[in-house]
Amino acid sequence: MHVLILGGTTEARGLAELLAADERPDLRVTTSLAGRVASPRLPPGQVRVGGFGGVDGLTAWLVEHRVAAVVDATHPFARTISFNAARAAADARVPLLALRRPGWQPTEGDRWHEADSLEEAAGVLPGLGRRIFLTTGRTGLAAFADLVDPWFLVRSVDPPQAPHPPRMEVLLDRGPFAIDGERALLRRHRIDVVVTKDSGGAATAPKLVAAREAGLPVVVVRRPPTPEGVPAVATPDEAAAWVRSH
Ligand code: NAP
Repeated sequence: MHVLILGGTTEARGLAELLAADERPDLRVTTSLAGRVASPRLPPGQVRVGGFGGVDGLTAWLVEHRVAAVVDATHPFARTISFNAARAAADARVPLLALRRPGWQPTEGDRWHEADSLEEAAGVLPGLGRRIFLTTGRTGLAAFADLVDPWFLVRSVDPPQAPHPPRMEVLLDRGPFAIDGERALLRRHRIDVVVTKDSGGAATAPKLVAAREAGLPVVVVRRPPTPEGVPAVATPDEAAAWVRSH
């Protein structure tokens, strides 16, 4: 049985590790990465890198490689590949499961401002602060490029490219992040507002705790829609159980 994991997340790697631990000779697992990160953390099993060439390319890949089940474990903001996977799996008649970690929920003391897009987030920033901690990733910085007055601390795995805000410092780092480090970062850079996607998960949540403790506003970009009719689970364990049941 050949299983394709559409990856690029901690959960995708967790699923590949669980299936590898089964040591089933009849189970072959391939994780697919988009190739955005220069040196990604690789999961066990086979790995392929790069786009498939849209829905048709993915459909052809599933047929050619005799894939028996697909798990879409991509990031909640990777919208195109999730919709492509839904159509390709239907076309190739291959069962599909979405592995999607739950979004974050505000708790007492949080000062969240929700936005539907990076552009909307950029629009509310001038009213909130002048020293901005931007954690939305290196792609999408163009949405903030017109904000010439505020200063940005941009944290990303790989260096960002233009267009980006003119006044910015780049911090190259990759989660998981610890609460002590996040507290110190906000203090050291005198941050007065944080911007994040609602990525969910524990690895990058400590910035929300640090912002809450410091009484800082956080602009949270809501998740994009997901394809209808695709069953979803929240944890690698549940996804591994689904794979085993096939
Ligand atoms: P996207 O907008 O949904 O996808 C754009 C194109 O990239 C897709 O049409 C596909 O190309 C290719 N692609 C995306 N994920 C792929 C995968 N796992 N394997 C092979 N090809 C893939 O995706 P994105 O937002 O650019 O994210 C790219 C990758 O980074 C995803 O795998 C995601 O899990 C990871 N990631 C994204 C974010 C985020 O905030 N968006 C954050 C952390 C990690 P073709 O049409 O040619 O097949």
